[in-house]
Amino acid sequence: MAQERTAHHLYIGGEWVKGVATAPNVNPSDIDDIVGIYDQADESQVRLAVEAARSAAPAWRNSTPQQRFDVLDFVGSEILARKDELGRLLAREEGKVLIESIGEVTRAGYIFKFFAGEALRNGGEHIRSVRPGIEVDMLREPLGVVGLISPWNFPIAIPAWKTAPALAYGNTVVLKPAELVPGCSWAMAEILSRSGLPAGVFNLTTGKGRIIGNALVNHPDVAGISFTGSVEVGGGVASACANRLARVQLEMGGKNPLVVLDDSDLEVAVGAALNGAFFSTGQRCTASSRIIVTSKIYRQFVDAMVRRLGELKIDDALAAGTDIGPVVDKVQLDKDLSYIGFGKDEGGTLSFGGERLTRSRKGFYLAPALFTDTTNAMRINREEIFGPVAGVIPAKDYEEALTLANDTPFGLCSGICTTSLQHASHFRRNAQAGMVMVNLPTAGVDYHVPFGGKKGSSYGTREQGTYAREFYTTVKTCYVAP
Ligand code: NAD
Repeated sequence: MAQERTAHHLYIGGEWVKGVATAPNVNPSDIDDIVGIYDQADESQVRLAVEAARSAAPAWRNSTPQQRFDVLDFVGSEILARKDELGRLLAREEGKVLIESIGEVTRAGYIFKFFAGEALRNGGEHIRSVRPGIEVDMLREPLGVVGLISPWNFPIAIPAWKTAPALAYGNTVVLKPAELVPGCSWAMAEILSRSGLPAGVFNLTTGKGRIIGNALVNHPDVAGISFTGSVEVGGGVASACANRLARVQLEMGGKNPLVVLDDSDLEVAVGAALNGAFFSTGQRCTASSRIIVTSKIYRQFVDAMVRRLGELKIDDALAAGTDIGPVVDKVQLDKDLSYIGFGKDEGGTLSFGGERLTRSRKGFYLAPALFTDTTNAMRINREEIFGPVAGVIPAKDYEEALTLANDTPFGLCSGICTTSLQHASHFRRNAQAGMVMVNLPTAGVDYHVPFGGKKGSSYGTREQGTYAREFYTTVKTCYVAP
């Protein structure tokens, strides 16, 4: 049994501080492999972290763009230089296959680099007053202390895409990563601790969401909360922030459709559907869990999907050639299996997979489940499962496919496979989603453009790219008469 014994304390006020308890970080590919033992904070340690961030805020808000650039560039460079090692850590703690894990780490490195540049470009606006002789400046100022709460499915990219802009725009930070994957955030904190950041500007508290996440959300000195996670928790976070008039940003679930039209290139469509629905074990908020296929190509598409699913290797995330790793933990595996049960009970045809798999190591392996001949009213097509489970829904034509695609409480990403410019253009205009993909998987996005959804998927301003500034800054309008 491999066991990493190094202590992983909290990072508060520039010091490594012992938590009140510890918890093992378990590898879902091999539950006998303990990735590390990580400290757990309690509410009083969250208060200490917020106090450290509050004390550090005045100096950091006045830091120069060069200081911010240097810190973020250092972190980005080190993450990129260590991408293979950090990618292995990510694969071990989350179960994402190694190639995807290294890709996620690389993305996190580039996010820091991108926001290093943004720190230099954070200008204001100048305009002449309507009154004679008066000048008006619109300045962007940091919020102050921000609380960042992240989910388990992107253990380094999401902490990076919240932390980097927060620091670039002059905020101080308390980060609370998901309890299942503290390792990547801890590694990121360790790099930040050597980056030249003054003590207290960045703080890490690991532990249970309903205890310390809640303490962070309700702390009166936290000016803004950026949350990514489930709709259930997100709603409570937004209400708590509204009650005390704090700024809040939520990125939540999806039930993303991929429309496949008769005129699509079958190979492109099957590739997009397999990747979007099942890669990363379907554990992506942008996963294509509803595949809506028009009638003439329906049978051909389903046959090709079943054939290609049979060729995929489901195994240890670190093993060479693995296409799909395990489900993240037992709770999520049980949830996936119960939805597979609902799908059968409601009359969907389970055309592939859906059964637990055993491998040489004890892990949470599940054969990707493809339901066909489903309807959009079934629970598997309405509720976010967050596992390798997708439903194929037949549609008579493009118009019906678009109606089905939009018939969901979510609106994160919507995709279409077609060779018709007319349908692609119409779909881009009429899909009710924050992101639209044409001839691409619904999952897989760039790091330099905004990310976010409509309807029940998102609340507040967009994350990532230059749009991140809307959340992490506030506008001050200054009038000057000579
Ligand atoms: P979750 O809502 O259970 O937890 C998210 C975070 O909130 C964790 O850090 C958790 O510890 C914390 N938390 C839990 N209870 C809390 C409370 N009462 N107060 C404050 N914080 C609390 O979500 P999860 O299971 O970690 O992640 C899966 C969800 O995340 C899925 O719904 C998925 O769609 C969503 N997600 C969305 C995006 C996006 O950008 N839209 C990206 C990735 C994941």
